[in-house]
Amino acid sequence: METITSACIRLDAKVANKTEAICLAGRLLAEAGYIAPDYVESMLAREEVANTFLGAGVAIPHGRIEDRRHIRRTGIAVVQVRDGIDWQDGQRARLIVAVAAQSDEHIAILRRLTRLMQRPGSIELLADTDDPALILSTLADGPEAPAPVAEAREWPADALTTWTLDYPNGLHARPATRWVETARRFACEIRIYRETQFADAKALTALLALGITRGDGLRIAARGPDARRALDAMLDTVVSLSGEEKAEAGRARRNALAARRSAPDWLPADGPQTVYGLGASPGLAVGILVRHAGTHFEIQDTPGDVVADAEALEASIFSVRAELEQQEADTRGLLGASEAAIFAAHRELLADAGLMREAMANLLRGHGPAWAWKHAMQAHVEQLQALADPLLAARALDLRDVGERVLASLLGVERQRLMLDQPSILVAEDLTPSDTLRLDMRFVAGLAVSGGGPTSHTAILARTLGLPAVVAAGSALLAAPAGLTAVLDGSLGAVYLEVSEADREAAEAVVAHQLDSRRALRENRMLPAVTLDGHRVEIAANVASAGQAAAALEAGAEGVGLMRTEFLFLERDSAPDEEEQYRAYRGMAEVMAGRTLTIRALDIGGDKQVPYLRMPAEQNPFLGVRGARLLLERQDLLYAQLRALYRAAAHGPIRIMFPMVTHLDEIEALRVHCERARAQVNGPRLEIGIMVEVPAVALLADKFAQLVDFFSVGTNDLTQYTLAIDRQHPALAAQADSLHPAVLELIARTIAAAKRHGTWVGVCGGLAGEPLGARILAGLGVDELSMSAQDVAAVKAALRTETIAALQALAQRALAAGTADEVHAL
Ligand code: PEP
Ligand code: MG
Repeated sequence: METITSACIRLDAKVANKTEAICLAGRLLAEAGYIAPDYVESMLAREEVANTFLGAGVAIPHGRIEDRRHIRRTGIAVVQVRDGIDWQDGQRARLIVAVAAQSDEHIAILRRLTRLMQRPGSIELLADTDDPALILSTLADGPEAPAPVAEAREWPADALTTWTLDYPNGLHARPATRWVETARRFACEIRIYRETQFADAKALTALLALGITRGDGLRIAARGPDARRALDAMLDTVVSLSGEEKAEAGRARRNALAARRSAPDWLPADGPQTVYGLGASPGLAVGILVRHAGTHFEIQDTPGDVVADAEALEASIFSVRAELEQQEADTRGLLGASEAAIFAAHRELLADAGLMREAMANLLRGHGPAWAWKHAMQAHVEQLQALADPLLAARALDLRDVGERVLASLLGVERQRLMLDQPSILVAEDLTPSDTLRLDMRFVAGLAVSGGGPTSHTAILARTLGLPAVVAAGSALLAAPAGLTAVLDGSLGAVYLEVSEADREAAEAVVAHQLDSRRALRENRMLPAVTLDGHRVEIAANVASAGQAAAALEAGAEGVGLMRTEFLFLERDSAPDEEEQYRAYRGMAEVMAGRTLTIRALDIGGDKQVPYLRMPAEQNPFLGVRGARLLLERQDLLYAQLRALYRAAAHGPIRIMFPMVTHLDEIEALRVHCERARAQVNGPRLEIGIMVEVPAVALLADKFAQLVDFFSVGTNDLTQYTLAIDRQHPALAAQADSLHPAVLELIARTIAAAKRHGTWVGVCGGLAGEPLGARILAGLGVDELSMSAQDVAAVKAALRTETIAALQALAQRALAAGTADEVHAL
């Protein structure tokens, strides 16, 4: 029996949308006698509840099972839409293969289709061909036609660009998720090529499977009506993430360095057997070792009706996706945005068309849904595990995590939950993020895993939950018998096995002390930072949104010392206009309810590039048109921002701060522009200050102090410009240490000049949030320290235990040192 004839193939169809495409395919089937016209209604009805997009430009609309009575005999119709039509959520269908199947005779055709989809170029050939015979011979019954891939034409891109990936940890799941999110905003097809391989930019696992590591040259190609805009947006996302990725890698390196520098809080006296790994979340934990095994699923391969099985699988995926959405929202509220991003990445893994295609292909090969899903997932997990880059390979764990959630939902079983009744140290090969969040925190004291790395999602969650953790401890850890009493040091990366009674008691005393200090920090976070002899330092926070400002106040911050406005300008296609900026700044002023809010004017350039501004490429962007230099060149941006700020100031006090000022005439000019913008909107007079980030400004601080209302020292940039070390250089960034005496000397000069002229001075770079840095800066005489919200309570507490005289003496010793290491040793 023929399931496809040339009468059922429509080449280069002109249809405006999905409904028209389905109706046309239905008409072809009806006219050829395969179905009664009522079946078309059923096909449309199915789309309302389930998306039939298969992936790679192919959709397979079909009716509901209960409407099979309208099928006269099994048949297939193909509608070719060369430019593609929007199927759902940005998916574009170019080949619409409508299926009317009485039982399973159509499976051979679908099997061919899914196989073809796995061969690059094959589907494109069918979607572009003028020859119905090619479609017929490729899809019709009989021996399988040879794959047309050999002659596949080069994919004709409408827009193409190249980029070399510079993320220190390669393209791992979090940035890749942002790529996919951007790609999905556009209807066109977008591909990422690495050498001869490519992936659909809208499919997360395919993208991860390319194994893109730092230094890989990529080509980003787009095809379709909005290709140019899509490519600009992709490049914007790709490049703007570069700064975040480098900053995160720098932070991890600095933390590791700090942990190595500080003496351990506790060491065993009795020399127990010790397993070393990497410290992933600081703190000491005491407990019995408990082995955490992953969930084991008993899978029977029980195929049923293919369509019903596919529906069951789809339903499970939908329900897990809904769970993940909820978990993402809950985690954002409870733990924070970066932790929530883990579950957004999991959702993307689940939305991957390649994974779904493979599962469908397994169903079509005659397997049951659980088997089909498990094996598709396993194949993708193995693909990721095989990647040479261990950071990318670690993402296999995330895929297994979501994959197992779908399996549990399909099989109707609860994933195993560990029952604990005493303080425990969990030992596992690795823990998935969902395992970590499901732990019974009353009894879990620490985590030790044989695999993983300090940047794994589990490590991130452990740090946020304040749970000491050691990763990459190797097989020796797994060999340790369960039930032993152990001590884990998450700073040092050590697990002490079978400790003596005396060691256990000593470690417990340290843990109790650590817990007390943490509790005290939290309880006292609202107290001011007043030294024992009554000297007060204002403690403020660095934020990027009204939400972060509110969280900072809750964490004990007394004001905002640095509001970075760049976030409003990144990851979009055009600059926010005055109105949008006004609303954002007004929102912040309202959250601050009268407290100090220092808003920094746009600091674009350097590592923060905004493609839509179309600035010429620079050899050394950190030494190029950055910050104030850009604002003076682009007065359209400057005035929109200034007017928005002066209007927002009607809703609460705002101070304006300019970044990257180098010359006296820059601030003179900026003051004139401020006054003009103020007059245009009839705004109140505001304090105008500058960041001290360029050594020249610190050296001429006496002169600058006469032109500004305040200084804020940006130690991150001041350090990179003083030491001539790129603050994000993968190999050198750890040496870009703001405690270098040369940097401290420039800060001391700035503060002294400010005092001479009665100019207020704060510090908003990273040094302000480090315990030793904060004490030295207070000793040098700053008025305010502004830092990440999470550092506020600890810095306040540290300053409260000192006298200003002791801090001044400490600052003088630091200035007299010859190296950063000498300062650290103070
Ligand atoms: C700094 O340079 O210290 C600073 C606070 O600015 P940013 O880190 O945003 O460059
Ligand atoms: Mg800076």
